[in-house]
Amino acid sequence: MSTIFSQIVEGEIPARIVYEDETTIAFLDANPLAPGHTLVIPKDEYERLNDVPEDVATDLYATVHRMVPAVEESVDADATTVAFNNGEEAGQEVPHVHCHIVPRFEGDGGGPIHAIAGDRPDLADDELDDIAADIESRA
Ligand code: 5GP
Repeated sequence: MSTIFSQIVEGEIPARIVYEDETTIAFLDANPLAPGHTLVIPKDEYERLNDVPEDVATDLYATVHRMVPAVEESVDADATTVAFNNGEEAGQEVPHVHCHIVPRFEGDGGGPIHAIAGDRPDLADDELDDIAADIESRA
């Protein structure tokens, strides 16, 4: 079964589409966190960020890069929070990669990306060194 976002791509359900090219599409979020809240997706269905092939990932970033100023200017935002919920445990509800562009305004009562974290770990220097070395070895 195709995702709700694939149905938008196919024109099977309506959406306020604000940009479209061969591989990506951007449309307004149906339940916006702020005026202008926009989603940018690859047209093909990939569940997680790293399921997206490199060439499409490049296109996806190009569309995000294009849409951020368009959204900010359109609603006269002071800033934007730009983020992916990457996986169910991170809050991803629609299993089709999507980048949120959320306009932000001075005094809007929202928080930074750091507000997503639960209990923060208290990591010793050697643990941080081990984690950094492990990540580096996989990059
Ligand atoms: P997630 O939690 O998966 O990162 O975000 C999914 C987003 O998709 C939510 O912000 C939600 O409001 C939006 N959304 C869900 N269904 C629809 C839909 O049918 N149309 C549009 N335009 N947005 C949707």
